[in-house]
Amino acid sequence: MDDFEILAQQLFPGITVTPAELEERYPQRDLPEGARVTRFAPSPTGFMHMGNIFSALIDKLNADTTGGIYYLRIEDTDKKREVENGISKIFEGLNAFGITPDEGVMGQNEEKGAYGPYQQSRRREIYQCYAKELVKKGLAYPCFCSEEELSRLREEQEAENAPVKGYFGRWTKCRSLTLDEQLKKLRSGAPYVLRLRSDGDESKRIFVDDLIKGRLEMPENIQDIVLLKSDGIPTYHFAHAVDDHLMRTTHVVRGDEWIASLPVHIQLFRLLGFRPPKYVHISPIMKLDNGNKRKLSKRKDPELAVSFYREQGYPKDGVLEYLLTLANSNFEDWRRANPTEPVGRFPFSVKKMSQSGAIFDLAKMNDICKNKISAMSADEVFQRACEWAREFDSELYGLFSAAPEYAKAIFAIDRDVPKPRKDIAKWSDVRQYVEYFYSDIYLPDSTLPENIKAADAKAVLESYLRVYDAADGKDVWFSKIKGLCAPLGFTPDVREYKSNPEAYKGHVGDVSTVIRIAVTSRTNTPDLHSIMALLGEREVRSRISGAINFMSVKGE
Ligand code: GLU
Repeated sequence: MDDFEILAQQLFPGITVTPAELEERYPQRDLPEGARVTRFAPSPTGFMHMGNIFSALIDKLNADTTGGIYYLRIEDTDKKREVENGISKIFEGLNAFGITPDEGVMGQNEEKGAYGPYQQSRRREIYQCYAKELVKKGLAYPCFCSEEELSRLREEQEAENAPVKGYFGRWTKCRSLTLDEQLKKLRSGAPYVLRLRSDGDESKRIFVDDLIKGRLEMPENIQDIVLLKSDGIPTYHFAHAVDDHLMRTTHVVRGDEWIASLPVHIQLFRLLGFRPPKYVHISPIMKLDNGNKRKLSKRKDPELAVSFYREQGYPKDGVLEYLLTLANSNFEDWRRANPTEPVGRFPFSVKKMSQSGAIFDLAKMNDICKNKISAMSADEVFQRACEWAREFDSELYGLFSAAPEYAKAIFAIDRDVPKPRKDIAKWSDVRQYVEYFYSDIYLPDSTLPENIKAADAKAVLESYLRVYDAADGKDVWFSKIKGLCAPLGFTPDVREYKSNPEAYKGHVGDVSTVIRIAVTSRTNTPDLHSIMALLGEREVRSRISGAINFMSVKGE
C-alpha cells in the first residue's frame, strides 16, 4: 500500500463499495439517441420562487421534447437552512403548475426510479466512496486548520493585499503534512475537512459552451475547495458532480449565478473521471420598474413567490403558458396559429431562450389567464373556482355548494359564444364577478354615470316596472326597453342621438344602463336579459324598486 492508500483507509475504513460497482449499479440509461436527462435540484429551504418554477419547466421541456427524463433531486446537505416539510412543499409546488417530475423525489418520503436515493442526505456512502478514491489518487487530503487559523490566513492575505484570496498555493498549510503527521492527527481525533488538491493553473483558461450563453471562458480553479465538511457531509460542489454523473444527467439547467462555480465543477468532473454534462444557465427573471430592468425581489414583488399564484388562484395552465412566452418568444405566434393544441406540442428550443433575462409582466400573465378561463366550459369554471374557494374563501364556497346549478348558470352566461368575455384572470376574481347574483354578499349601489340625471333614471325605472314581464324572450325584452325611450325623451336610435345630441336626454344604451345599474349596481355586465332571468322576477322587481327609492332621495 502506498501512502495515499494508507491515508484513504484510515479516513474511510467502512467504505468498501468501489466506483466500478457504482458504475454498474447506475448504468447508462436506455434512452433514444438525443434524449436529454435533466434535473431540478433545489434545497428544501421552504421558499420556492418563480425562477425555480421557470427552471424546472425548462428541465421538463428539454426532457419532453427529446424523449428524455426530468427528475427531482433534493440537495439537502445544508441542514441549517432546511424547513419542516420542505420536500413536500417543493413537490407540491411543481405539481401545482403541472411540472411533475418523471423520476426522483415524489413526496416527503417517496421516490421513484432506479438512480436513487434522490435525496443527498441519503447518499453519504456514495460520496465517501468517491472521496476515498480521490484520496487514494492523491487528489484530496484532510485539512485540520481551525476556524481561527483560517481567519488568520484571511487577515494575512488582506494585509498583503493578495489579489486572490482563499486556500490555495502557498497558503495550503495542510497540503504538505506527511503521512505520519496526518495519521497522528487523525488518531488523536482532530477534526478535519477533506479538501481537493487542486491541479489548476491560474494562467490557463477553461472553455464551456453553454447552450444559452454561448462560449464561456474563465481561469482554471486554483483553490483547494472543501469536498467533505467536518461532519462528513459533502459540499454542494462535490455532491452535485457525483450525482449528476451517477444519475446520468446530460443537461444541467440552473440559474446563471452558478456560472462563477464552473471552473470548480469542470475540474471536479475531470478529476473524478466523469464526462461533464452540457450546461444551460438561465438568466434571472427580470421586472420593469419605472423603466429600469431589475431582478424580481422577494421583499418588493409578491409575484416572485410560488405561493402567490395558489393563493390568488391563477389557473396553472395559464401560468405555464405565460412562462412559455418567457422561455421562447415565438411561443405566442405558435399559440395564435394553434389555439387548441396542448402546450406539449410546442417545439421548444433552448437556443431561443433570452441571454439577458426575460421580463416578467403580471398584466400579461393576467391576459393569458383570462384567455384560458374564457375558453373553459361553465362546468369547469365552476369546479375550479369551487376548489379554490374551498381553501381561500369559505363564504363563497358555501354559496356555491348550496346551489351548484345556479352557480353554473351564472358562468354559462355569454360563455359559448364566438368572442367570450374575459372578466376572470384568477379564481380570486370570481367573487367580484358573481357578487350581485347573491343577495347575501351583494351591496346595492345605484350611483349613476354623470350624464344621467336621477329624476330621469327614476322615470325610466318606473316605466320599466310597468312593462317588465319575466316571461319575455330576449327580443321582446329589448323591444320593450326601446319602447321606453321616446315617451321619456330618449331615442332608441344611437346614430340619431350622435347626430343630434341636443334633442334627447340620451339613447337606448343609457336606458339599459339605468336598468343594469338598478339590477346589478354595475355599468358593465354580461347579457342583462340572462342575468335578470337567473335572478328571477321577485328579486328583479325588488332591486328596481329599491333603486327607485334611492333615485327619489337623490332627485330631491
Ligand atoms: N441546490 C442548488 C440550488 O438550490 C442547485 C444548483 C444546481 O442546479 O446545480 O441552487
